[in-house]
Amino acid sequence: MEKKTYLDLKREVWDTGTCSGCGACVAVCPADALSFTDGAAATSPVSTGYCKQATDSVPCGACYAACPRTSVQPADTLGPYLELTCAAAAFEIPHRQSGGAVTAILASALDEGLIDCVVTVTEDRFTLKPSSVIITSSGALVMQAGSRYSWWVPLLAALKEAVIEQKYKKIAVIGLPCAVQALARIRNGDNDLLVPYAGAIRLVIGLFCTESFDYSLLTEKLRRDYGTEPHEIRKMDVKGKLVISRYDGSTTNLSLKELESCIRPGCHHCTDLTATIADISAGSVGSPKGSTTLIVRTPTGRAFVDAAVRSGKLILSPGADTAAIEKLATEKIKKNSS
Ligand SMILES: Cc1cc2nc3c(=O)[nH]c(=O)nc-3n(C[C@H](O)[C@H](O)[C@H](O)COP(=O)(O)OP(=O)(O)OC[C@H]3O[C@@H](n4cnc5c(N)ncnc54)[C@H](O)[C@@H]3O)c2cc1C
Ligand code: SF4
Ligand code: SF4
Repeated sequence: MEKKTYLDLKREVWDTGTCSGCGACVAVCPADALSFTDGAAATSPVSTGYCKQATDSVPCGACYAACPRTSVQPADTLGPYLELTCAAAAFEIPHRQSGGAVTAILASALDEGLIDCVVTVTEDRFTLKPSSVIITSSGALVMQAGSRYSWWVPLLAALKEAVIEQKYKKIAVIGLPCAVQALARIRNGDNDLLVPYAGAIRLVIGLFCTESFDYSLLTEKLRRDYGTEPHEIRKMDVKGKLVISRYDGSTTNLSLKELESCIRPGCHHCTDLTATIADISAGSVGSPKGSTTLIVRTPTGRAFVDAAVRSGKLILSPGADTAAIEKLATEKIKKNSS
């Protein structure tokens, strides 16, 4: 049977406003024919018009096979798991978002050679513009801790460089639930062109997510309505609202309703809060300040968490508030299921 191509992706996902911006299609296209245009409010990829299959009749279909928006959305609150716990790094991580558990697990894995790189999203500390990058040392990972709530580039763009150019064989990927869903399709699918990616991904850590914002729209709104420039912002945190903390000690709380125009359109079609098909999921809801909620889902995830605890970098503690996570997840499902 002929595989589906970017033309099907365009019809079913790009043109229906459901694209999440995960960038999986961009990363796996063997012809490098898909990209996101830099600039304001790019909601879906564009094609150069060339396609191995549609143009040259060479079987491909990699982009369609990797896209998380071509199948039914997961709509479970907690998803399957082996353990749900509070966790925190046992060492200083200045920019950590919650308890620094994500950084601690991956720093431990890099130091012990369990992985050779991390594909993640970092940001420029001055402009707060996010980038998809490859990190290979625990020191660099610690410097890049913290959450990026805005979107500028496809989240998984660096995956192609890690697998195809750098030829890393033991890759950990941190992703939002939409990226985690794409990675699951890559790992479990039957498209031959995805096999090198599937074979190289050793661990997937998913971050809880209610929505993400377009970088340029958010930056412009903060400048226009609050007189705040990116370099003045010390930290952003989403907890039912967006909390902006500045270096001068002031804070501003913005309701998500007020930020509606900055939310990426594809997020309105997303019903997965807790990255239900990751190896490990991590969020702030459900844990006290200074702790991360960890949902350990697979034996692989279990092995990485155990290794971080053994190495003395991660401390687990009981008392995670499962009901609070379920409540937020249910709200997301209700809001976006239609
Ligand atoms: C867009 C977004 C929305 C979120 N919404 C919620 C929410 O509603 N409720 C909730 O409880 N938690 C939410 N989180 C998760 C929360 O902010 C923390 O990321 C989580 O608690 C882990 O904290 P930590 O201290 O263990 O991570 P850290 O130790 O600080 O490490 C975080 C790691 O994630 C990477 N990273 C940051 N942003 C991204 C990104 N966009 N894509 C891929 N990798 C990234 C960083 O490079 C870093 O390595 C959200 C995160 C993001 C990015
Ligand atoms: S959801 Fe991801 S894989 Fe699907 S079209 Fe959008 S960027 Fe590409
Ligand atoms: S809500 Fe989060 S996980 Fe869902 S599409 Fe938006 S960025 Fe991706």
